[in-house]
Amino acid sequence: MALPTQLQHWIHSAKAQRVTVFACMLLYAVSPVPEFWITQLNYIALYSLVVLGLVLLTGIGGLTSFGQAAFVGIGAYTSAYMTVNMGWSPWLTLFVGLAITIVSALIVGWVTLSMSGHYLPLATIAWGLSLYYLMGNMDALGKYDGLLGVPGLNLFGVDISQGRYFFVLAWSAVLIGAFALLNLLDSRTGRAIRAMRSSVLMAEAMGVDTLRHKVGIFLIAAVFASISGWLFAHFQHSVNPSPFGLKMGIEYLFMTVLGGAGFVWGAISGSVMTKLLEDELQVLPKLIGTSGSYEVIVFGIVLVLVLKYLPDGIWSLVGRFLPKPDRVEDWHNAAPLAERTKPAKGETVLEVDTIRKEFGGLVAVKDVGFSIQAGQIVGLIGPNGAGKSTTFNLITGVLGLTSGTVKFRGNVISGLPSREISARGMSRTFQHVKMIPELTVLENVALGAQLRGSENALSSMLRLDRAEEQSLLREAARQLERIGMGASMHELAGNLAMGPQRLMEIARALCSDPALLLLDEPAAGLRHKEKQALGAVLRQLQAEGMSILLVEHDMELVMDVTDHIVVMEFGTKLMEGTPAEVQQSPQVRAAYLGMEH
Ligand code: ADP
Ligand code: MG
Repeated sequence: MALPTQLQHWIHSAKAQRVTVFACMLLYAVSPVPEFWITQLNYIALYSLVVLGLVLLTGIGGLTSFGQAAFVGIGAYTSAYMTVNMGWSPWLTLFVGLAITIVSALIVGWVTLSMSGHYLPLATIAWGLSLYYLMGNMDALGKYDGLLGVPGLNLFGVDISQGRYFFVLAWSAVLIGAFALLNLLDSRTGRAIRAMRSSVLMAEAMGVDTLRHKVGIFLIAAVFASISGWLFAHFQHSVNPSPFGLKMGIEYLFMTVLGGAGFVWGAISGSVMTKLLEDELQVLPKLIGTSGSYEVIVFGIVLVLVLKYLPDGIWSLVGRFLPKPDRVEDWHNAAPLAERTKPAKGETVLEVDTIRKEFGGLVAVKDVGFSIQAGQIVGLIGPNGAGKSTTFNLITGVLGLTSGTVKFRGNVISGLPSREISARGMSRTFQHVKMIPELTVLENVALGAQLRGSENALSSMLRLDRAEEQSLLREAARQLERIGMGASMHELAGNLAMGPQRLMEIARALCSDPALLLLDEPAAGLRHKEKQALGAVLRQLQAEGMSILLVEHDMELVMDVTDHIVVMEFGTKLMEGTPAEVQQSPQVRAAYLGMEH
C-alpha cells in the first residue's frame, strides 16, 4: 500500500528527522535504563552544549578558542553566587549569567578579532587563566573550595535538576541548540560565516562584514557555554574553579576535533567518546602505580591518531550512513528581489582618474586613467607584471590608492572598503577561484545576493527567515539558468571542473544585481571548450547591456568580446582603443613580442 505522497514527503523532510530525534530522547528518559547511564548522559549533554558552540566557532568559522571553560564558569558562578548569597531564582540568574557572558565575550572578541593575525587562541588562553585565578582567589566566591548548597531547579514544585528530569532538560537544550545551529548554517548568515572561513577577501567582496561575523560566532559559542555552566551548577549543587580551568578548555577543543569539528552532530559524538574515554582512564593511575594526569597523554595520542586517520572526526564516519533529508526546491514561487536602477545607455559607469599605487619604491600603477560607459565591455590587457591586478584591486577597494580618484556612477568611491563598493553595485570575480567547496553551486551563487537580504543570525536560528531565503535561492537559480548552468545547481561546488567553477563565480557576481562586473582573468587555466563557453556567456551579457571590465591574458577572447581595450605596460597606460586599433599598434606588438620571447 502506497503512502499518500504528502506523508512520504514529510517522512523524508528535515523536520520529520528532528521530531524523531526529539521523540527518541523522551523515550530514552522514560525507558528502564539504569540510572548510571542517565547520569553519564547528563554529563555528556553538558559537554555537548559547549562543544556545539565550538563547532560553529572553530569547525565552521575557523577560529580557535581555548577559553570556553571560562564562559562555562561565568554561567555557573553567576548563578551559584546569586542563588546562594542573594536568594534569587535560578530562572532569573540564568539571564544575569548570560548578560555577563555576552558583555565579556564582546570585549574579548572585539579587542582580539580586530587585530590581524592569530591573536584569538592566545587571548582565550590568557582569558581562561585569568578567570580561573579570579574564581580561585576571591573570598566572595569561596576561593578554591567554591560555593556549596546551590539550590536545584524548581518547576511547578518539581525539582528538575536531577536524574531523568534533568536528562530531559539538558538534552532538550542540546537538541534545541543543535537545531538552531543547523538552521543558522542553512541561511544567509551561515553562508557568510562559511565564506569568511574560506576567504576573508572574498567574503568582504560579497558584502560580508567579516569582523562582525567573527565576533558574532564568538558570542554565540560563549552563550552556549554559559548555559551549560548554569545547568552544571544546579545539577552539581556546588561550584569550584577546577572544571573551568584551561585544562578543561583544551578538553572541549579535543572533543570538538574528535567528534568532527565541521559537523553539528560531531559535537555529541565527540562528547560521548571523551566521557567514555575519561571513565576508562580512571583506572590508569592504579595500573601505573602512581597518580598523575596520565589521561592527558592518552588524549594527546588519540587526538594525533584521529587527525591522521580521520581528519574530519568520528561523525564523518557515522554521518555517512544516515539518511539525508530530501532537497526541496521550495523557492519557485518566492517573491523576486528588488533590483537597483541600472545606468542608462551611454552613462559613464566607471571613471578612473590618474590612479597611482606605490609599493615602497616600486610604482606598480603609474597615473593610469580610463573610463567605462554603460553597456561597454572594456578589456584591460598587458604583459605579466604590467599592473593589471593592482589596478583591479585599486578599483574594487582591496588596495588603498597612493593618489588619484575612482568614480563609480558619478560618486567618488576611492577610500571605501570593498564591501561598501560592492554594496553600490560593483561585483567581481577572482583570478584564483574563491568559493565554499562544501556547499552546493546554488548556495555559493546565493552568497552573491548577500546584500539583497537583511535577515540576521537570530531570525535564521528561529527559522523566521524562510521567505527571504527562498527569494535569495530563487535569484541564485535564475542567475545560474541565465548563464546555462541550471543543470548543476545542486552539485557541490568543490566537485566542479575549473571552467564551470569560473562560470559559477560569474553567476555569483551577477546575483548581486551589479551595475558593473569586474572579471579578473576568467579564462586562466581553462581548456579550449571551456573558453568557448565563457566567450558565449560574455557575449550574451554584452547583448543584455551589462557593463564589464575584463582583465584577461587570452588575446583571442579579449579581441572577440571587448568593445574597447586599455593596454598597460610597466605600470603605465601604453595605449587604448578599439580591438582593431590595438591589434595594429606597433607599440603593443613590441610590448607583447618583448614578453613572449
Ligand atoms: P599583472 O596583474 O599585470 O600581472 P600586478 O598588478 O600583479 O601585475 O603587478 C604589478 C607590479 O607590482 C609587479 O611588479 C608586482 O611584482 C608588483 N606588486 C604587486 N603587488 C604587490 C605587493 N603587494 N607588494 C609589492 N609589490 C607588488
Ligand atoms: Mg594579475
